[in-house]
Amino acid sequence: MNFYILTLFPEMVEQTFHTSIMKRAAENDLISLEAVNIRDFSENKHMKVDDYPYGGGAGMVMQPGPVYSAYESIKEKAKGARVVYMTPQGKVFNQKMAEELAQEENLIFLCGHYEGIDERVLEEIVTDEVSIGDYVLTGGELPALVMMDAIGRLVPGVLNNDVSAEIESFHDNLLEYPQYTRPVTWHEKEVPSVLLSGHHGNVEKWRREKSIERTLAKRPDLLKDANLDKKEQQYLAKLKEANK
Ligand code: SAM
Repeated sequence: MNFYILTLFPEMVEQTFHTSIMKRAAENDLISLEAVNIRDFSENKHMKVDDYPYGGGAGMVMQPGPVYSAYESIKEKAKGARVVYMTPQGKVFNQKMAEELAQEENLIFLCGHYEGIDERVLEEIVTDEVSIGDYVLTGGELPALVMMDAIGRLVPGVLNNDVSAEIESFHDNLLEYPQYTRPVTWHEKEVPSVLLSGHHGNVEKWRREKSIERTLAKRPDLLKDANLDKKEQQYLAKLKEANK
């Protein structure tokens, strides 16, 4: 999986990306990141890439020319790549979208700054508009890093244990069950005995039930699309009844 990012702050993106699990994945050639500095494609001698908005109003707008040239500089290498514009106006990012985008070979992220980017270049190059939530940030770099992290960890081999990406929160529209590690007793609290039993079937059943309980308590909105078998549906109905 190759990530390309069009940004005014390539150092910020590169430094943050090349840490911990993503760093190791890049060293193992499972993912790569190329940050393209939009300022390198400025069309004036002061290296400016923004200008006042036509029609007036606060702030500055990124000009179309440098953004387009930055895109052109990688278009051939990133052949067929979707161009994701980070914007608070986009579709809100979620795990399902991460799973879908993780199937791509190349992805280009376009980061705005200031008041955003001239609409005309967005019309020409952008295939997807994505937001990371209903709030406004100063730039698209943090949102792009969030997306690259969520997508990158789904690439086979990036996590040590591929199964761990499959049974986490949001898989099956359920939140993950509670996790415990050593010691068995901490602050007089015991690890649930079923987890020490060595009985795989009972452990799985307990985890599934805890997932359903947690989702009902913390994110009941997810449950309408959760993939539950008949017994699990009955368990959920019992929980709902008890909570009445
Ligand atoms: N004037 C724009 C508007 O009201 O839609 C907001 C511009 S924002 C200050 C500057 C840049 O930050 C945007 O072009 C976008 O790339 C990025 N950005 C800000 N909030 C974001 C969010 N929630 N999700 C994704 N990108 C965001």
